[in-house]
Amino acid sequence: NLSDRLTRVVKTITGEARITEANTQEMLREVRLALLEADVALPVVKDFISQVKERALGEEVLNSLTPGQALVGIVNEQLTKLMGEKTEDINLAAQPPVVILMAGLQGAGKTTTTGKLAKYLKDTLKKKVMTVSADVYRPAAIEQLKTVSGQAGAEFFPSNIDQKPVDIALAALNHAKRQFFDVLIVDTAGRLGIDEAMMNEIKALHAAVNPTETLFVIDAMLGQDAANTAKAFNDALPLTGVVLTKMDGDSRGGAALSVRQITGKPIKFMGVGEKLSGFERFHPERVAGRILGMGDIVSLVEEAKKGIDQAEAEKLAKKLKSGKAFDLNDFLAQITQMRKLGGLQGLIDKLPSQLMKGAGQVDANAAEKQIKRTEAIILSMTPMERSKPDLLKASRKRRIAAGAGVQVQEVNRLLAQFDQMRGMMKSMQKGGLAKMMRKMGGGK
Ligand code: GDP
Ligand code: MG
Repeated sequence: NLSDRLTRVVKTITGEARITEANTQEMLREVRLALLEADVALPVVKDFISQVKERALGEEVLNSLTPGQALVGIVNEQLTKLMGEKTEDINLAAQPPVVILMAGLQGAGKTTTTGKLAKYLKDTLKKKVMTVSADVYRPAAIEQLKTVSGQAGAEFFPSNIDQKPVDIALAALNHAKRQFFDVLIVDTAGRLGIDEAMMNEIKALHAAVNPTETLFVIDAMLGQDAANTAKAFNDALPLTGVVLTKMDGDSRGGAALSVRQITGKPIKFMGVGEKLSGFERFHPERVAGRILGMGDIVSLVEEAKKGIDQAEAEKLAKKLKSGKAFDLNDFLAQITQMRKLGGLQGLIDKLPSQLMKGAGQVDANAAEKQIKRTEAIILSMTPMERSKPDLLKASRKRRIAAGAGVQVQEVNRLLAQFDQMRGMMKSMQKGGLAKMMRKMGGGK
């Protein structure tokens, strides 16, 4: 699959000390094959490769200290770009009831997604949501929508197979208006393939209800076919967004990479399971990372750069350079920096899955609590105590423990940790750490 293949490419290339025209070509050929194997549409692959190539042979890679990594970074960035760069939310900027029209082939996941979206709008965005089914070809489809709407806690507007789709939608809209609903989601019928009758029907529905969002729902497992289907729907309807379903399955990733490029419309959500909880906003950089099989490592590094306060880092670097001792104020500053990185759970979520295999027992919650307690203990000390930790004898420790609401042993444990860290800092004071801290802070 795409991840495996790209991972292999990435491994080879990261080992290379120098980037040459030759090994760049080789890498690009591998990436190209990987994308084709993943069933990404050919025009999309061509564009992608030429963009990566242009950048790969440019300054940013050639001047980089680690060209292999720079290349991987470029592939990652371009993959992200291919899928839309930023995370886009549902557009509800219209006079309520805001209408959302669901379009797509049969089996794509429209009805399931209607339920998921209703739940998201209701639980997360606190909207009053109504759903209606204009699928008059399969009585079971209407029942199915009723069930998922019930699970989502949304109002279901009944319909039946003797009615015309446009009449159903208009009746629902009328009702939603009178009952002051914020959102009306119109689920529609799909065929197994694209045909004119289906396109005409959904066009008529679109004209009748004037939706704010027209979401194209597509099965991520479709691969190459996704391109044709997406194009047909995009030509027939003014789509406003895409929902990629079944991203939990064994998809080769092709649809995710093609659909944005082909429609020019943002992928807003993805389905990651049959249940209503299997629904997420679409984060292009995360999906790109997943496709590359390296978790969110890249964004993790970027976040780390952002999270570490430049001034703070400089201050510490200067202090260490001047030969002054590392004290508890510095220790506290470091802990605060760590918290800024989004907490441990955030870090753990971003690590590559391979790394995390077998590490299921990491309890981020407990670790997070531990950090908070450490902070509380240091904050219970006087500034004097923080800058001269050697002052901390039994009676002061008891006072601090009481202030932080912990046992004296915990204060002792913290001081032991601090001692260890101070030892480390001393040995690094020759300039190595200062340099590192400045680098992390984004400076030169
Ligand atoms: P529709 O014909 O477009 O309305 O498609 P349905 O909503 O009826 O979904 C078709 C099948 O795909 C059902 O069996 C769903 O449970 C399944 N399905 C929908 N979305 C997802 C998803 O994100 N993940 C998985 N694994 N299955 C899904
Ligand atoms: Mg359906």
